[in-house]
Amino acid sequence: MPDERSSPSAGWREVYRAMDAPEPTDEDRRDCPDCGDDSPRVRGDTYWCPKHGTWRPRGGEAAG
Ligand SMILES: [Zn+2]
Repeated sequence: MPDERSSPSAGWREVYRAMDAPEPTDEDRRDCPDCGDDSPRVRGDTYWCPKHGTWRPRGGEAAG
């Protein structure tokens, strides 16, 4: 199989393609707590930041 990891900023769309999952809706996105970047939900309570990788919300709902 070809190695397509040469692009460092492939983005979350490639992650979803790799998982054969549908693209997330706006409801399935959050801002990364570390950098505020757009992070789509990959599954359950896990989100994916282009810079920090997967992360989970800290302790329930945060205001804002
Ligand atoms: Zn981040």
